[in-house]
Amino acid sequence: MGDETVNADPVLYEQRGTTALITLNRPDARNAQNTRMTIALDDAFMRFAQDDSARVAILTGAGKHFSAGHDIGTDEMDYDDEFERRGVWWNHTDKEVAERWMSYEEEYYLGMCRRWREIPKPTIAMVNGACIAGALILAWSCDLIVASDDAFFSDPVVQMGVPGIEFFAHPWEMGSRFAKEFLFLGERVPAARAYELGMVNRVVPRAELESATFDIAERIARMPAFGLALAKQAVNQADDAKGLRTGVDGAFALHQLAHAHNYAVSGSPMLMQSVESMRDAAAPGGRHP
Ligand code: ZN
Repeated sequence: MGDETVNADPVLYEQRGTTALITLNRPDARNAQNTRMTIALDDAFMRFAQDDSARVAILTGAGKHFSAGHDIGTDEMDYDDEFERRGVWWNHTDKEVAERWMSYEEEYYLGMCRRWREIPKPTIAMVNGACIAGALILAWSCDLIVASDDAFFSDPVVQMGVPGIEFFAHPWEMGSRFAKEFLFLGERVPAARAYELGMVNRVVPRAELESATFDIAERIARMPAFGLALAKQAVNQADDAKGLRTGVDGAFALHQLAHAHNYAVSGSPMLMQSVESMRDAAAPGGRHP
């Protein structure tokens, strides 16, 4: 990626009528999520949450892909970046090994996903192209997922020695049986298959993705705001009653165990020899490792 990408606003916020459009904006990096982007995304969701004129938010990615996931091996791993000081609950910047990873991931990944999921207004992930690993948990944090017919989903991180991405909602999003296949094989799941699994609400032609998603947002916005907030909370509570919260907490502990183990045996929290092949998975026409 060039300087232009590094210096650009990593997340764009725009309001069209009653709909807020939040766009991941590192297209040259396939919208890989670094710390700077995570904080900008949190700012965007906060702006949406606090602006009553914005009734529904749409989250999407600039360019060909929704997002290739967490930015592994570059910005994300640069824990001394000035933006890290945003961490509120648990300052990870002067910590080491497991304490460092757990404190970072608990706040930046797990904590933020949960906060965004609980915004008392509807959110829609408008998924174009690749939605890989860390990108899944952005989409899952939204209430609805509308995907283009060329979108695909994967969580290939088992090959990196970790048991799935940090917000471990896989069994709730696609059912336990397929969740295991999804994790064991790490293959791309096309939008049509994701729809069959119940993970995606609608699949539309790429050219119609934006208009179809905005149409849904505008129809939702005509419903009473409090009714929407209560309906959202009721469904989220039902998911938690079905074990989502405790399941994610349990998996997060295993995830941290994996990072610590990988570090002990390889000097990295992930088995980094697989990083390039994982990046290739997001490439247009790329073969999944
Ligand atoms: Zn992790």
